[in-house]
Amino acid sequence: MSNILLLHGGVGIENSLVDNANRKLDSIAHSVIMGSDPLDAAVKAVVIMEDDPDFNAGTGSVMRIDGSIQMDASVAIPGRFGSVLAIESVKNPVLVARDVMELTPHTMLAGDGAVKFARMLGYHEHNPSTEKARNRLKTALDSLNDPKSESHSKYSKLMSRTDFATFLKDSCDTVGAVSRINDRFAAAVSTGGASPMLRGRIGDSPIFGSGIYVGEKGAVVATGIGEDISRRLLCFRIHEKIGTKPLQEIMEEEVGFFKDVIAGVIAVSADEHGYFANKGMGIGLKIENMD
Ligand code: ASP
Repeated sequence: MSNILLLHGGVGIENSLVDNANRKLDSIAHSVIMGSDPLDAAVKAVVIMEDDPDFNAGTGSVMRIDGSIQMDASVAIPGRFGSVLAIESVKNPVLVARDVMELTPHTMLAGDGAVKFARMLGYHEHNPSTEKARNRLKTALDSLNDPKSESHSKYSKLMSRTDFATFLKDSCDTVGAVSRINDRFAAAVSTGGASPMLRGRIGDSPIFGSGIYVGEKGAVVATGIGEDISRRLLCFRIHEKIGTKPLQEIMEEEVGFFKDVIAGVIAVSADEHGYFANKGMGIGLKIENMD
């Protein structure tokens, strides 16, 4: 049997960039010492990606339409789950999500409550904004600037978008990890969201069953347009099918459901692991054979 750490760096990149992304994610996966706890391994990998401004998570997170940064993150092991929703001004949302799971009776903490909880535990104030995020917001706002609706506010322009998913086709670069160590499963996810979005918007990443699911049969994590992934409970569906057919087939079938919407998943089961996306997605993989 082998121990596995599998990472993704978000779906939606051009195919020409996938090799580079794979190299980077592979080196992140290999830098993680696997140890004996699958949650430690998944969280460590996500922390590295949150601290790397190239990813849309932690430092480097995308901005809301009002210029603020609110991040979602979650962790899970079989029977337990913790997440933070729209948390602000912390360096590593995934660590706070883990604390929600391990130190509170709750599963989810949102907004200022999540920030207060983090401060109570000693998480310092941190500004995750970057030049890249500012430029990305500017590009998004420019594209919302439809001359036909000049009298509308930028908010109403965003809200009148019926093709939200198509509009966001290149903007998903959430990070996630699934792991299996000594036959135990874990997963961790972190994101700044899918820009442009309204302040307060929550994606799939901190919703159990939507962008993350861990159960007795394995661990599954998703990336893509959170609204569509949530409506489908994508990760729960994949987990429930594990064991009925090859994992790869399950992922292809489930991601295949999304037509104009970009989506990608990574998963581990007791004896398989894999990934599938309908647009470019970087992957990092570390396998330690135990036999
Ligand atoms: N799923 C994330 C969200 O909608 C975006 C992503 O995968 O990059 O918040």
